[in-house]
Amino acid sequence: MNTTPSNPIALVGAGPGDPELLTVKALKRLQAADVVLVDDLVDARVLALLQPHTRVLKVGKRGGCVSTEQRFIHELMIREARSGARVVRLKGGDPFVFGRGGEEVDALRAAGLEVEIVNGLTAGLAGPASIGIPVTDRRCTPGVALVTGHSAEGSGDGGRAPDWAALARSGLTLVIYMGVARCADIVAQLRAARLRGDMPAAVIAAAHTERQRQALTSLDGLVETILAQGLGSPAILVIGEVAALANASVVNPPGPAVQVRA
Ligand code: SAH
Repeated sequence: MNTTPSNPIALVGAGPGDPELLTVKALKRLQAADVVLVDDLVDARVLALLQPHTRVLKVGKRGGCVSTEQRFIHELMIREARSGARVVRLKGGDPFVFGRGGEEVDALRAAGLEVEIVNGLTAGLAGPASIGIPVTDRRCTPGVALVTGHSAEGSGDGGRAPDWAALARSGLTLVIYMGVARCADIVAQLRAARLRGDMPAAVIAAAHTERQRQALTSLDGLVETILAQGLGSPAILVIGEVAALANASVVNPPGPAVQVRA
């Protein structure tokens, strides 16, 4: 049994891509780390900020049995922390927004380790903002729902699907993560619940990376726009009046200019 007191493990959000969107605290933890466990979505420009001696362990999920892999990640973190290393668990966006951060905190606390949470800028807020879409605007919506488009009853991912009919009635802006693959089904469910077909919609792919692309359309045009423009994961879908506020004069996106009504 190793009796070395372990440092707290920092669960750090890397933001959507651009390293300038890291928090100061995230940068400090990264530069003090001995070992960093990294997900697939973390931008290479963020990893370039690490000290040369820092070990980088890429633990992204690429198929296979997700639950075993998640357990393996927990074990790796626990082993490294117990050996006295300063461990950072680095996740794209915010670690507590569709990042399994809660599950990792549970596992680390169960192992008797301390955890520090360092928030990151989540793609569902930063992506829309990069093309001038505020996810809330009191002129047209009382709020925003951040939802997954991936989980489905019986999909085996352990998640619950959103109640699309309730969301359609809510008047909230819908910001959908992991929604590209199941977009046709999501649109069908929202239309069945009588959300207007001409409701503005936007797709922001690879926001704040060098590969960023975006399109503005409507609920009825969403599937065709994604297919026609080849917009793939990672992407955020925005459905709601606020999508019409996208503005070509916002200077953030490195990609091609915003195109209205593709
Ligand atoms: N914790 C992350 C989300 C992880 S889930 C966060 O807070 O941002 C993975 C999903 O996030 C992707 O399928 C996509 O929907 C979204 N996503 C992550 N990075 C993105 C980016 N740079 N641009 C657009 N969407 C992104």
